[in-house]
Amino acid sequence: MKLASFEATGHATYGVVDTLGLYRPVSAAFQQAYPDLKSVIVAGALPALQAAAIGPGLPEDAVRLLPVIPNPGKLICVGLNYKSHVAETKRADSEYPSLFLRFNDSLAAHGDEVLRPAFSERFDWEGELAFVIGKGGRHIAKENAFDHIAGYACFNDVSVRDWQKHTHQFTPGKNFPGTAPFGPVLVTRDEVPDVTALTLETRVNGQVVQHASVGDLIFDIPTIVAYVSRFTPLSPGDVIATGTPGGVGDRREPPLYMKEGDVAEVEITGLGVLRNRIGTDHSAA
Ligand code: MG
Repeated sequence: MKLASFEATGHATYGVVDTLGLYRPVSAAFQQAYPDLKSVIVAGALPALQAAAIGPGLPEDAVRLLPVIPNPGKLICVGLNYKSHVAETKRADSEYPSLFLRFNDSLAAHGDEVLRPAFSERFDWEGELAFVIGKGGRHIAKENAFDHIAGYACFNDVSVRDWQKHTHQFTPGKNFPGTAPFGPVLVTRDEVPDVTALTLETRVNGQVVQHASVGDLIFDIPTIVAYVSRFTPLSPGDVIATGTPGGVGDRREPPLYMKEGDVAEVEITGLGVLRNRIGTDHSAA
């Protein structure tokens, strides 16, 4: 299934994207039982979602997409997880995954305008694969990791590089509001038999800036799930972004950053295209 969270006629809902690309919201009764997509996952009710998505098929221009999971309990990002990116940052390899956290209000939807703060010129893309936890757990063994995954989506870990690099903690530069587009859809795990076979591509104004195989992850998904669940419980609806490959703008010569009017796209095989126009936040210029 391809699942989406969206607003239709001013009402926040969720449902299935059918084979024609139409958005089919769940019934009112289903939404009363499960107010949002995360609550469906928490209840283990994903198998019932297809039959509950009985609303009229809405074309994309009739809905306003929301982040595919707007309210994860935890939003964890892996940094420095492709050799091509580690090399361009000139950092040493690490024995353990590098992790940082995002706030939920840093999420954005497919189609949202992503706002560069007017006081930073270093607004950069990071195309990534994200996955959503379906079954929670602690101390999850690598061999069981995929049993805990509900599905996959595109993610753009848009970064304010100067604020990211004020110190060695990434938090500020990764948490400006609405800077992490997530979607357009969540593709359930059953439709992705081999996640390492997927190809990730990031484009800015149509120009390919990142192109990599998910199979090139340094710390693969089972390793990430095992490592994270060692120190914190993972819960249904939690989101983990797996890191970006080489090709970020900040490491180019000369550097290349996103500015107002640019269009960023992240495409992953079978997961769709996550597209966002860049704007400017003048609120603190
Ligand atoms: Mg990243």
